[in-house]
Amino acid sequence: MKRLMPRVRSLTWDLRGVVCLLCSMLVASPAWATSSATSDVAPAPVPAEVQYEITVRLDPVARRIEGRSVITANTPEELTLVIGRRFEVMHGRVDAEPFGPAVTMGRMRAWRILGHEKLPRRIEIHWRGELAALDTALDHHQTLGRNEPASGEAGTFLPDSSGWYPYLADKLASYNLTIELPAGQRGIVPGRLAEETETAEGYRARFEFPAPTGGIDLMAGPYAVETRTVRGAGGKPIQLRTYFHPAIADLAPAYLDSVKGYLGLYEKWIGEYPFTEFSVVSSPTPTGFGMPTLTYLGVEVLRLPFIRTTSLGHEVLHNWWGNGVYPDYAKGNWSEGLTTFMADYAYKERESDEAARDMRRGWLRDFAALAPGQDKPLTSFTSRLHGATQIVGYNKAAMLFLMLRDMLGQTTFDRALQTFWNEQRFRIASWSDLRQAFETASGQNLGPFFDQWLTRAGAPVLRIADAALAKPGSGSHRVTVTLEQGEPAYRLRVPIGIRTAEGEELHMLDLESARQAFTVDVRNRPTQVILDPDLRLFRRLLPDEAPPILRQVMVDQTTETILLPENGDARSAAETLASKMQNRVPKLVARKDGNGLPAVPLLVIGLADHVDAWLAKNHLPGRPDIMKEKGSAQAWTVRRPDGFTLAVVSALDAASLSALARPLPHYGRQSYIVFDGAKAISRGAWPTRSQVLKLD
Ligand SMILES: [Zn+2]
Repeated sequence: MKRLMPRVRSLTWDLRGVVCLLCSMLVASPAWATSSATSDVAPAPVPAEVQYEITVRLDPVARRIEGRSVITANTPEELTLVIGRRFEVMHGRVDAEPFGPAVTMGRMRAWRILGHEKLPRRIEIHWRGELAALDTALDHHQTLGRNEPASGEAGTFLPDSSGWYPYLADKLASYNLTIELPAGQRGIVPGRLAEETETAEGYRARFEFPAPTGGIDLMAGPYAVETRTVRGAGGKPIQLRTYFHPAIADLAPAYLDSVKGYLGLYEKWIGEYPFTEFSVVSSPTPTGFGMPTLTYLGVEVLRLPFIRTTSLGHEVLHNWWGNGVYPDYAKGNWSEGLTTFMADYAYKERESDEAARDMRRGWLRDFAALAPGQDKPLTSFTSRLHGATQIVGYNKAAMLFLMLRDMLGQTTFDRALQTFWNEQRFRIASWSDLRQAFETASGQNLGPFFDQWLTRAGAPVLRIADAALAKPGSGSHRVTVTLEQGEPAYRLRVPIGIRTAEGEELHMLDLESARQAFTVDVRNRPTQVILDPDLRLFRRLLPDEAPPILRQVMVDQTTETILLPENGDARSAAETLASKMQNRVPKLVARKDGNGLPAVPLLVIGLADHVDAWLAKNHLPGRPDIMKEKGSAQAWTVRRPDGFTLAVVSALDAASLSALARPLPHYGRQSYIVFDGAKAISRGAWPTRSQVLKLD
């Protein structure tokens, strides 16, 4: 009993290390969406096979919901009607017949509705029930995992997966939905706001979603609504709205400006915006959901000054990639990588070359933090579950698009995406449809490129095996460079920097085998050869290129943990912290003093004195100077003499240790960090070092 399309749960990590904002893209997938077919004209929407006509009345204070739905089904097959078990069905009829007995399946209740030839079939259902209390103390992970319909005066969120309205399992449906709320409250679902009234008795709004979709999420709250009409690319009016809690109502104009800017950017870059509205809706919990026509972001998230310039654009772009063209999940979700590339990464490129390079460096360092063999090929990425899938599904995929653009050039790359949009809009498309679009635009066979990056796990490991001056002292300067990689070999265009007295020259070497020598002519006398100086190639950085970051002991599944406190508050704080950082039950090992450490990455947590003593006993470097005598707690990484990573967390007392449980897991990108209570006061990553060979 599941929906036709999986619901995507995804996260954008480490927004400047302050917050994890989750991007949970909810996909609307029309029944007429077809895979792989291409034609010059996008298909006209056919009437949905299933249509919901829903009216719900909500009382957020009493946490009561009452609804009526008429489902029209134009199919003779047997159907399964489902609703959350917490709801009481007061009345149900299929055509003229009352419902038969229901079966209970987990948190859902279901009815089998036998096949019938006479169409259309009409199912009427009247239900009511109590909603869970809204818990604003949840963090984003908990909000994500919670499938309960929750309500309160401050906000209501009824996720589709909670079964808050009756639906036909495995059937996409279009809908008209009317929300009734007490005065002062407003509600919204994805779609076009067709009608709206507000009187002393209450608020009423009707939404239409004409394309068959996988499910409906409903949001309500004491919103102040701001509306602005803008003209889209074809002159089409687009309604932009903010549904904001009064406390942040003053942010509305700035958000509307930003949304307008993003719509303009992506209409010009890709093609016409596919819907008639876009709303930014505030949530009392720290969520971040993206759905067709809207994004639902926590009040505290919306207050963060950088959200408008980062995550908001990402969510707007999902109306093209994800909710405009639907990924073929069975063959891999390309939409997060493309959205990351054209939003998060594109904004960095606009900012500066250095900012873009920092983002690439972050991606590569994150990947280097995974144990070899821990990642999966991109074709098996569907949605974000935890660290490893994020690093591959978002970052590796974004880097694939970067390498592709480097190869084809911006103009060809953009033309391919525009064609892809024109041909695949409101269809299910796979990586191979994307490949075809790029092949058509470039006239090149991109099979090997897509193949190696999509179907292989891992990444190439590259090394400059040798570099030498071929003709020292002669008029022209010639360098031979030998590159090495693991087997089976990748086909790579490897950027090589050659430093001369006059500056750096960049050369592209086409590496096709495990070991290959190249001859390069240089204008000036060369002094050094540098591998991929600008970090434009997706590869596994060598240990020397990427000194360890905290992420490694969070995502590398082989990591073992040593808790120095043996009992008491400090012990339980250390235990909580370890499981929060690793998002699993930590693999604990006994404290080994001086008898050698396990040959795996290690996380050590303890109070300051014990930490110092433990480091000394194990002949490991002491507390780095950069953080001596600072803050109430510190964390840092060390590359152990045996090559494995050690991450140390040290706090003055148990309270300082427990203060880290919430913030520290967000700082995986750092090599060191100092906290004062729960506040990070200093942090950084040990510098990366390029592979450089001197010529002499
Ligand atoms: Zn996303």
